[in-house]
Amino acid sequence: MVKVLPHKHCVVCGKAVEPDKSYCSDKCEDQLKKDQRRQRMFFLMLFGILIIMILFSLLSAPKG
Ligand SMILES: [Zn+2]
Repeated sequence: MVKVLPHKHCVVCGKAVEPDKSYCSDKCEDQLKKDQRRQRMFFLMLFGILIIMILFSLLSAPKG
């Protein structure tokens, strides 16, 4: 039986890395941080649009 050393894969490029690491290099860490920032911005934007749409539908709803 072949014993497999415990390892993880780089979350960015998929290369095998040490178990206590999530990326193979600083470059990949940088890339991940950039992606996360972009994702957060995207969700904030989506959330903002949703709020605006709810506000508009509340304001334009017929009363009575
Ligand atoms: Zn990598």
